[in-house]
Amino acid sequence: MPKRVLVIGAGFAGLAAATSLADKGYDVTILEKNSVPGGRARVFEAEGFTFDMGPSWYWMPDVFDTYFARFGKKTSDYYNLVRLDPSYKVVFGPDESVDLPAGLDNLEALFEGIEPGSGKRLQQFLKQASYKYEVGMNKFVWKPSRSVTEFLSLKLLFDVTRLDVFQSFASHARKFFTHPRLLEIVEFPVLFLGATPENTPAMYSLMNYAEMALGTWYPMGGMHEIVKGMVRLAEEKGVKILLNQTVQKIDVEKKNAQRVVTTDGIFETDVVVAGADYNHVETSLLDETNRNYDDAYWKSRVMAPSSLLFYLGVNKRLPRLLHHNLFFDEDFKIHAQEIYEAPRWPSKPLFYASAPSKTDPSVAPEGYENLFLLIPVAPDLTDDNATREHYYNLIMNRLEAYVGEDIRSHVVFKRSYAHNDFKQDYNAFRGNAYGLANTLRQTAILKPSLKNKHVDNLFYTGQLTVPGPGVPPSLISGLVVADEVAKEFN
Ligand SMILES: Cc1cc2nc3c(=O)[nH]c(=O)nc-3n(C[C@H](O)[C@H](O)[C@H](O)COP(=O)(O)OP(=O)(O)OC[C@H]3O[C@@H](n4cnc5c(N)ncnc54)[C@H](O)[C@@H]3O)c2cc1C
Repeated sequence: MPKRVLVIGAGFAGLAAATSLADKGYDVTILEKNSVPGGRARVFEAEGFTFDMGPSWYWMPDVFDTYFARFGKKTSDYYNLVRLDPSYKVVFGPDESVDLPAGLDNLEALFEGIEPGSGKRLQQFLKQASYKYEVGMNKFVWKPSRSVTEFLSLKLLFDVTRLDVFQSFASHARKFFTHPRLLEIVEFPVLFLGATPENTPAMYSLMNYAEMALGTWYPMGGMHEIVKGMVRLAEEKGVKILLNQTVQKIDVEKKNAQRVVTTDGIFETDVVVAGADYNHVETSLLDETNRNYDDAYWKSRVMAPSSLLFYLGVNKRLPRLLHHNLFFDEDFKIHAQEIYEAPRWPSKPLFYASAPSKTDPSVAPEGYENLFLLIPVAPDLTDDNATREHYYNLIMNRLEAYVGEDIRSHVVFKRSYAHNDFKQDYNAFRGNAYGLANTLRQTAILKPSLKNKHVDNLFYTGQLTVPGPGVPPSLISGLVVADEVAKEFN
């Protein structure tokens, strides 16, 4: 009899872990609380629009290719990718914006136009970033990070010094660029890591390499096509995905998880891989004696921001927008302070507007625009409708000022989403959207461990453990944990 594995949660990490374990010969069942798979990358349809609920940036296409290749498949067996050009727009004010072109030559020319000499320096910056990508993405992120000894080879130590782990991204960027606009452009991808450029290791200029050299892509049909592809592959490998199964308890006897109790039934098992939010698994599904970390530990963690989101259907096109639009028309320092140092609802937030209907006619009725607005906000804020509405009007004022026309009276569908929804839908710790911030003190072995210390057959995967938040890291997390299970329970 093959060993039975129960995976909790059908997000990217849970799906990847389940597929890899089934491929290795295990009998795998996923227990998912929601009625559809995908976790934070679910989709919903309304009034002829198809809204991706979470991720919208497809970066690091090589990671997705590696994922499908591991099972003898190609990404194109499951969805069609297009590269966006321009990659995205940065709005600095109603009359000032820059469209970032795809292709390094064009980018260098753009930089040179803003700050003479910076085109060449961009080349040098990206050369270092390419090395960091190569080492970071091919070696470090694949480490289970269960012991410091994994990093003790001479070659890796040498790599660590060249990776700029101990320098901040902010000071690194300032060695190459001085113009504030260029600094904003190169610092933007770091915001994906959930911390400020001052608190992010310079190693993460690998994100610039990912964005500028490898490009911004889009799966036609929407980001959910990735989930659909992964679900198909999982089922091809024999994974059973049970939906509407909220896990309530992991039953532990003699240091072993014996069974998992859901709202619907009891499932016996040999191994558990928990892909739901780490803190939820520890505090709600396990007895206190079996937790890896106590409340003080969780209180001391730096969380990546949560988000206030708006999904809007607009009954006209908005020619001044691109597919991805970053509104950097307010001071990021103040917004960052209001997220990290003195958490509160922000006074003048930056925000992001995505209009996938620019690329993909299938996500909106003809002649209409599908609009997704995102404001990064501190976790754990009081979330009510009046506050959401205040921010809707605040960012709509700026969006309308930039596009130069009225949008509000053309909105034919509107839904908002914030902390309370993250908690209710995903059991998200403090209503987080993207897990833990990637600060130096929360990297590799300093992240919550992917193995339980007290329960021999309980593992964790997902954006709160290694390697971190984002779709590519979550996929990697699932594959890494599957290898760890196989090492111990072959
Ligand atoms: C608004 C937003 C925008 C983002 N944008 C991007 C982007 O552009 N690019 C990018 O790369 N990344 C982006 N991310 C991050 C990325 O989406 C996440 O890092 C990734 O999807 C996390 O996957 P996961 O499998 O770790 O967790 P999840 O997707 O949260 O999966 C966990 C699953 O566990 C289930 N679960 C929870 N509790 C239980 C329980 N008790 N029983 C059973 N099941 C349970 C949940 O329902 C969920 O399906 C974004 C995230 C958000 C929220």
